[in-house]
Amino acid sequence: MTLKWHIIPTGRVWVDPGGAFGLVPRTMWQKHQTPNKDQMIPMDLNSLLIFSDDKTILVDTGIGDKLTPKAMEMWGIEWPEGSMLNNLEKFGVRPEDVDIVIDTHLHSDHCGGNTLIADEKVVATFPNATYMVQGNEYHDATNTNVRTRATYLSPNFVPIEESGQLQKLDGDTQITKHIRTVRTPGHTPGHQSVIVEDGEHPLFFVSDLATFAIHFAKTAWVTAYDVEPLITIKTKEIWQKWAFKNKAFIIFQHDITARSGFLVKNSKGRYEMEIIEKGSINK
Ligand SMILES: [Zn+2]
Repeated sequence: MTLKWHIIPTGRVWVDPGGAFGLVPRTMWQKHQTPNKDQMIPMDLNSLLIFSDDKTILVDTGIGDKLTPKAMEMWGIEWPEGSMLNNLEKFGVRPEDVDIVIDTHLHSDHCGGNTLIADEKVVATFPNATYMVQGNEYHDATNTNVRTRATYLSPNFVPIEESGQLQKLDGDTQITKHIRTVRTPGHTPGHQSVIVEDGEHPLFFVSDLATFAIHFAKTAWVTAYDVEPLITIKTKEIWQKWAFKNKAFIIFQHDITARSGFLVKNSKGRYEMEIIEKGSINK
């Protein structure tokens, strides 16, 4: 089977810009994101569906639908483009068809859809899938501290381990002929990104290495969510160089105004994003 990929919307949430932009002054970030009347900014939760080597692969699973009414209100969750399962169905993918789920990390807005509630039990959403996550991410998610515990919710991943469907990766891993995961620590120590390669432009699904497109171009802009911000900066410097040299097509899963683009340099030699609206070079 030839390689194909599609962006899969799983929902949209509204977050405090202090989280997304940390120390960046409002006058600077406001050129890129517009807050609503409650001073919140929108954050898409997009997954990536890939068909490669006769395998059906899903990268990240959004926030899921196990949220309590209180949590739903806190996140301001909406589904402007439908649910994850509806959007998979548009490409003929039923839950039982998914072979591999790659979790970039285990924050609740990235892996909440790993599981769902059926007959009052939390079970894997994708019953035949192997779920892949970095081993140290799983360790951190199951050994939380006061800073990390609010976003590592065990029903999103412990049932996967218990059903024998979890595979813990140990560093960069080739998944299929076209797909590999690379460690991109900083946002969390066990964070990974996904690279899809087939010819001219590698596709780079960065996850929270760059929450919004502008975070990828501005080396010093890191979110307040990052557990190790100085590591994020080091990791970003490595992957900025790689993305620029290889003309990578970069997907930003949270950015509603800049879903994808190329890293370019302006006349002053500084990095900038050339935005390709809505991920329009879908293969
Ligand atoms: Zn995120």
